[in-house]
Amino acid sequence: MEKKKLSLGGKILIALILSIVVGLLFMKNPTFATEYIKPLGTIFLNLLKFIVVPVVLFSIMAGIISMKDVRKVGSVGITALVYYMVTTLFAVTIGLIGANIFKGTFPAIATTDLSYTQSASTNFMQTLVDIFPSNFINPLSNATMLQVIVMAILVGFAILLLGEKAEKTIEGVNRWNDVFVKAMDMILQLSPYGVFCLLTPVIATNGPQIIGSLAKVIGVAYLCYVVHALIVYSLTVSTLGGVSPWKFFKGMAPAMIFAFSSASSVGTLPINKGCAEKLGADKDVTSFVLPLGATINMDGTAIYQGVCAVFIACCYGIDLTLGQMITIIATATLASIGTAGVPGAGMVMLAMVLTSVGLPVDGIAIVAGVDRIFDMGRTTLNITGDSACSIIVSNLQRKREARKAAKAK
Ligand code: ASP
Repeated sequence: MEKKKLSLGGKILIALILSIVVGLLFMKNPTFATEYIKPLGTIFLNLLKFIVVPVVLFSIMAGIISMKDVRKVGSVGITALVYYMVTTLFAVTIGLIGANIFKGTFPAIATTDLSYTQSASTNFMQTLVDIFPSNFINPLSNATMLQVIVMAILVGFAILLLGEKAEKTIEGVNRWNDVFVKAMDMILQLSPYGVFCLLTPVIATNGPQIIGSLAKVIGVAYLCYVVHALIVYSLTVSTLGGVSPWKFFKGMAPAMIFAFSSASSVGTLPINKGCAEKLGADKDVTSFVLPLGATINMDGTAIYQGVCAVFIACCYGIDLTLGQMITIIATATLASIGTAGVPGAGMVMLAMVLTSVGLPVDGIAIVAGVDRIFDMGRTTLNITGDSACSIIVSNLQRKREARKAAKAK
């Protein structure tokens, strides 16, 4: 009798449940988990980080080349950008509304002894300047993803414009893309073990009590994550993408579970690509739209920033005005674009949001201890938005092409 093989998503789910059980068992003595299990998780994360730069570089170039037409790249890119921006604006708004509805239940935390050292420049103009590389090697070696994307787009366009002259390069880019995708596939087979080793120490060291006094704030953020997914993604995927919400979330489960455990959009990219393509997204679109989304589209992060801004303001006894809320909507949207798709990056960018409305950056210290818990949920939402976009763009693109073909007849 042939044995039925468990899917990768199923294996990851089992790993997730096991890690919770084992993590709770290790709670009294977390040293083993942190000293011996965590490094194995780090090895897995390192492998993902290693493969992500070449995969993004080559997959965007291959995606652009396979579209063959500069105008098609433009139209796919612009549709994706519009979707990303609009959904992120919705996300912050949902976060602000949720936090305002429930702010009466938020705990009052003393702010006198707080201190938080800003680790990066969070100035808006600097963030903008930093998108553009001044060197060919640094973005690759530092894994500065926005810069890698700019490089891939520039070189991809150049290849496309050279046309026949670049025939050999096109062949090379496609083959190298295959090679890196294969290597990534091999690394992904390790993901159930990776997820187990990443999550067990988090549970063993933090346990349920870490949520403690911030349970309500975390609860509000998660509620907003769910509301955003159910309203924005369900609606857009069914109306513009032609996929039913049930099918969408079911198909996305492996990527969502992986994002939840790894808290890294960029790390989830390979699994996400597989899920989106199974749901009907075209390969040339996912190759371009997903790496872009993993870097600039962060709806979960935007919600988190909205909720935390209101909560931190409450702790300082400040009532935010409508004008300040609007400023938060604008800066959180920009801050989420500037957030790297790696664990904890959204918290760093929260500084930009707080400064924009004159809130003390030290307030971040209040939420820093539980950032990982916020992060697991926000990353899950971040990658779900990327996939929704790739499905929608593919569907709209197919319709556009069908219309063009009908006209040509
Ligand atoms: N960890 C998130 C992600 O990878 C970014 C964040 O910290 O908000 O999408």
